[in-house]
Amino acid sequence: MPDDFYAAAKRAGNPSTGVLAGSGQASTEDAVFNLGPEIGAQRHDPASYLNKGGTMKVVKVPSIKRLVAKSPGFAKKGLSTYKLDLLALCGFGCTYCSSNKGNYLRANRERFADLAEDQVGDRLYPDTSGNVMYTWPDVISKLEMQISQRGPSFGEGHTLVFSMLTDGFSPLLVGDGTTEKALTLIMEGTRFRVRVLTKNAVVGSDRWIRFFQRWPGRFVVGLSLGTQDRSWAKMVEVGTSSPQARLKATKRLQDAGIPTFGMLCPVFPDAMSGGSLEALVDAINPQVCEHVWVEPYNDRGNWQTVRDGYVPGTSGYVWFDKVYGGPKRMDLWSRYATDLFFRVAAKARAEGWIHKLRYLLYEGDITAADAPDFGNLEGVLLQDPPNKDGTSRNPSIAALQSAGAS
Ligand code: SF4
Repeated sequence: MPDDFYAAAKRAGNPSTGVLAGSGQASTEDAVFNLGPEIGAQRHDPASYLNKGGTMKVVKVPSIKRLVAKSPGFAKKGLSTYKLDLLALCGFGCTYCSSNKGNYLRANRERFADLAEDQVGDRLYPDTSGNVMYTWPDVISKLEMQISQRGPSFGEGHTLVFSMLTDGFSPLLVGDGTTEKALTLIMEGTRFRVRVLTKNAVVGSDRWIRFFQRWPGRFVVGLSLGTQDRSWAKMVEVGTSSPQARLKATKRLQDAGIPTFGMLCPVFPDAMSGGSLEALVDAINPQVCEHVWVEPYNDRGNWQTVRDGYVPGTSGYVWFDKVYGGPKRMDLWSRYATDLFFRVAAKARAEGWIHKLRYLLYEGDITAADAPDFGNLEGVLLQDPPNKDGTSRNPSIAALQSAGAS
């Protein structure tokens, strides 16, 4: 099979140490999946990692016991009620990713660094070392065990996101068959509907389309992106398929009748200039998507890293410095988050798909001046913890809620 990333990586690197060293040749990525120059393109090639200081290092860590787990955070976003991750730390390395600062990795920080030191000779930390991924070698046996302990109705009426904190279509997992085994176990042993959320365009390949078609209606697939700017994505979404490849994969899935959803997250301010926001929305064909999620950038303690994906002096770089660099200018963030909603919602209303819009808004920093632009909050999913009575802690947003309820 041509689609064995791991084997290709091993050929290029040193399999015994878990170090995936790069040939630095762009042609490697097409050879890996042999699916054509766009859909098959895996910028998760070793050359990408060279941007982050050398080679991708794979560290094996013990798997968690219950892989299928409830996902309250994603339930609030309307995405899923359960989740399945196959990795402890994603290898794609998006600079805005908040997973590498999560509780699980924080709690195991030193333990996993010990394992990294033993296995690859470096104390690699998830939040400071861009070129490390943590894998769970026993993930399939653990998943089999969990499913076998549940009845056949496990998952009935629920959606399981694949994946929440990592990317279940990481080339390493696709290449060694883990992704297919895990999804087959879920299809055959549970009744979940699976929401595939990925940045890997391989899901639009013939092979994966055929796989999804084996279980009609059981999959809905979304490729997240927030820009069509390939060079920006290369700096910030290190290792993922290019935006163009993700869009092409989305179209191929839609043409094949696979249910899809839009995931425009995060959309950065500079991706909204001119008509580029509207063009991005058009590119995912919202009329065909089941739903369209949209989210602005929210700082998770990583704004400097994200800013550094821009060339100094460009509007994107300057925006980050202005908002977060000195005294915080959350009014500027508020204006941007409001504009993003306003423009997408206007387009959705004009085109008749406002009922599909799911705008994820951490509303605490929306200013009183901007709040009215959210109207009756149609299409908005508020994400900040509410008051006990369910109203927003932001009084301006709470006022919109009251007006809508009256
Ligand atoms: S692909 Fe998703 S999980 Fe992986 S680094 Fe990027 S944002 Fe994080």
